[in-house]
Amino acid sequence: MAKRIAILGSTGSIGKNALRVIEALGAGYEVVAISAHTSVELLAEQARRHRPKYVGVTSADYVEALAELIGDLDLEILGGSRSMVQIAELDEVDIVVTAVVGAAGLPAILGAACKGKRLAIANKEPLVIAGELLVREIKRSGGMVLPVDSEHSAIFQAMQAGSPEEVNKIVLTASGGPFRQATAEDIRNVTLEQALAHPVWEMGPKITVDSATMMNKALEIIEARWLFDIPVEKIEVLIHPESIVHSLVEFIDGSVVAQLGTPDMCLPIQYALTYPHRVAGIAKHLRLEETGALTFEKPDMETFGALSLAYEVARAGGTAAAVFNAANEAAVQQFLAGTIKFVNILELVEHCLDRHEVRTGVSLEELLEADAWARAEVSELARGARRAASKS
Ligand code: MG
Repeated sequence: MAKRIAILGSTGSIGKNALRVIEALGAGYEVVAISAHTSVELLAEQARRHRPKYVGVTSADYVEALAELIGDLDLEILGGSRSMVQIAELDEVDIVVTAVVGAAGLPAILGAACKGKRLAIANKEPLVIAGELLVREIKRSGGMVLPVDSEHSAIFQAMQAGSPEEVNKIVLTASGGPFRQATAEDIRNVTLEQALAHPVWEMGPKITVDSATMMNKALEIIEARWLFDIPVEKIEVLIHPESIVHSLVEFIDGSVVAQLGTPDMCLPIQYALTYPHRVAGIAKHLRLEETGALTFEKPDMETFGALSLAYEVARAGGTAAAVFNAANEAAVQQFLAGTIKFVNILELVEHCLDRHEVRTGVSLEELLEADAWARAEVSELARGARRAASKS
């Protein structure tokens, strides 16, 4: 029987690639549902091409516009924020691909987890914020989660070479961002322009700033801790500017297994769908003779304080990571708006962590409460700092 797939966030870059991958896989893989927030024109185009049974639009304001565009098709339109949950929990769905920005996809992910479905999670936030809760539900329901983040897909692939008890440590690679060679002192004077000029990747501003602070990698440490149910002490970060080795696993006998590939998201997307099998697909093949030298170095934990914070946050568990992630999102917003300096981003995150009393064994509601508290705290602090600056 064909694997029936739902894609939450089908109009974003991961969603679009997922549809390309599924189309190329052909018989055996079927798109049953797609959903987006507001991009109804593209959503309608996708519906015409892939003929799902369900199309969801999470912003209720856009339901009518969508109905006008695809009213002639034989499918069901679902609207409003609950539509993602409805889709994720459908009996007709085997695999849920989630590529929804931020925490918005969490209720749907949790729904799919409780129903024992295969989850292919593309963005970090769900596992960072609610990793403990998700892992618990997945264990209970017999579902599984497959990573689509390139580093975590690499670790998952390398893990196939041994059993979980045979893993000595996992090594996440990081491109290092624009300040790879900077000192803690250099970082103090970074401008918005410098932070937004990434040497390799062109990404959205939030991710680009996260790559400059290495918060991106810090969040991935926490993501890995939950995905692979591994103590955070066994997770290491290695700077690898060429981004060809996507991550590595060291086994207890000293053998290191790595996954290499071109920086093409189609491969991790496809593997999450076809696992435990591999099939020919549309991802570009790697030609090592063309890559030149591959280099690795240890990150400077003093320059990139986000990394050392990530270990503390992962050890604390509970609500700590929700605060860590939300405080960073809010602080990056302030930085992009020009209201705070680059170095203030991490200071604000640290401040929130200091003031927060961690609670463990919590529900999704409590995690989202901690998230909201951190955001409010950051905007309050930024306002206070501006007032102080205008007085002096
Ligand atoms: Mg990544």
